[in-house]
Amino acid sequence: MQQICANSWCQEPFLVEKEDEEFFGKLRRAAPELRDIPPPVRCPDCRQQRRLARRNERAFYRRTCSMCNRDILAMYPADAPFPVYCSACWWGDKWDPLSLGKTFDPKRPFLEQFAELQRQVPRLALFGKNNENCEYINHSENAKNCYLCVDVVAQDTYYSKWMINCRDCCDCYQLEKSDLCYESQYSVGMNNDIYAFLSDQSCNLLFCYDCEGCNDCLLCTHLRHKRFCIMNEQFTEEEYRKRLTEIDRGSYKTFSVLLERYHDLWRTTFHRQHQALVNATQCSGDLFYNCQNVRHSFGVIESRDCAYCYDAGHMQDCQDAYEPAFNCELQYDCHACNRGKRIAACSVCYDVVGCAYCDMCHNASHLFGCISLKHKEYCILNKQYTKEEYLALLPAVIGRMQSDGTWGEFFPASLLPFAYNETVAQEYYPLDRASAEERGWRWKEEEHAPPNSKKVISAAQLPDHIKDTPDDVLNWAIRCEATGKLFRIVKQELLYYRKMGLPLPRLHPDERYRQRMAFTNSRKLFERTCAKCSKTMETTYAPDRPEIVYCEDCYLKEVY
Ligand SMILES: [Zn+2]
Ligand SMILES: [Zn+2]
Ligand SMILES: [Zn+2]
Repeated sequence: MQQICANSWCQEPFLVEKEDEEFFGKLRRAAPELRDIPPPVRCPDCRQQRRLARRNERAFYRRTCSMCNRDILAMYPADAPFPVYCSACWWGDKWDPLSLGKTFDPKRPFLEQFAELQRQVPRLALFGKNNENCEYINHSENAKNCYLCVDVVAQDTYYSKWMINCRDCCDCYQLEKSDLCYESQYSVGMNNDIYAFLSDQSCNLLFCYDCEGCNDCLLCTHLRHKRFCIMNEQFTEEEYRKRLTEIDRGSYKTFSVLLERYHDLWRTTFHRQHQALVNATQCSGDLFYNCQNVRHSFGVIESRDCAYCYDAGHMQDCQDAYEPAFNCELQYDCHACNRGKRIAACSVCYDVVGCAYCDMCHNASHLFGCISLKHKEYCILNKQYTKEEYLALLPAVIGRMQSDGTWGEFFPASLLPFAYNETVAQEYYPLDRASAEERGWRWKEEEHAPPNSKKVISAAQLPDHIKDTPDDVLNWAIRCEATGKLFRIVKQELLYYRKMGLPLPRLHPDERYRQRMAFTNSRKLFERTCAKCSKTMETTYAPDRPEIVYCEDCYLKEVY
């Protein structure tokens, strides 16, 4: 069925495919909370943008916990219109979110009543569960000794995003089961790799791209199961090790030369039509690991029969899911609902079944329009009902949403707890202030509180070599070479650079993040011609990107 996106600024045509319609049939039968849920009226991009705008990963504020008054770090500034609790208070049992419950009024729009609830219910300062000794960490579970990370299940890991079962990594993105990696991306089973990209099961790589199963290589591309190569040339072990001792990577000058060479390699080598396609059958989109029948999706691992999913793992029969993981089933238009089943329009609800329009509810089932509930069932707007009362009231609530024109739609812009430019939406769908506000999103001028330090130095004044870097550097504020923003080195980070023999970074963590993400492709398919055979292909490399891109056939011929 051909549709036109209902957003007036978009109006892109899009398809509701036969498989989508089958999915909705299944969904409607799956739980009473999902009855009569209609197919989407907005295009996949507008739907994803709306979910992204509900995720603030990196805008942190110092404020106090609204319960214990301790100084905390939060996703919400001190003047946020709702209470914000620290992790201990929010997860603790000294408060009862049901005490704020509201009786549904059929004469008023449902989401208007939800908005009132949202202004009163305490929110969790940073999303996390079972994290230990972690600071500046968000959307993470079971992390230990991590600093400034998002989406991690990791230990001793810093400035990294989307890391599963990793240890001792810094400035990395999308790694699984990897240790001792620095500035590496999109790989599984890495060990001691520095600037390695798409190199599964590799070890001791330095500045390598697409070198699967390789060990001890420097500045190589597209190798398989090789050792002791430099710029794709084979050396003996002895010669390789000798050459390596001549490279003093602890020196910032030497390191920068290597990095420049790596960027040259990136520009001059060929890239694959799909950034990553590992054991993927009947999939459309990009970045798949072990997937079957996953359509129009990006960054999905270990999943089947899904569509319009992004940065997701371990799912079955889900559509429009962003950042869910670990055994998810029949999710529709949800954000970050780990282990969620038979749910729609929920945000950051873990271990929930049969819920709709819920925000930060955990280990719960059969909730509708609830916020911050844990271990509860049969509630609407945080009010407890018996099972019978709940099931009797539900059709009236859904009926009200149908007549409001909001049924089946994710939380609208007016209900966002964040400003647009505080969220990931600004990374994937950048807008200026005027266009964001025109579309109903809030905007917040960036606040940059300089670190409290006795000494401020420019990055160029840092010692060239890590071995000459004194402990006192921990007391300095360093001015980022690119943005001029001040940043600090934290103790565990300094120890990491010393252990790894790496020079201190000269860019602010935000700028490092921005540069790293520039190597990751957009979540969108473009038409482009293969640089080798000129065949037309679909790829996530936008046509205006300078990389040389090969179609799957040409790529496979070159590499294998
Ligand atoms: Zn649209
Ligand atoms: Zn507290
Ligand atoms: Zn080709």
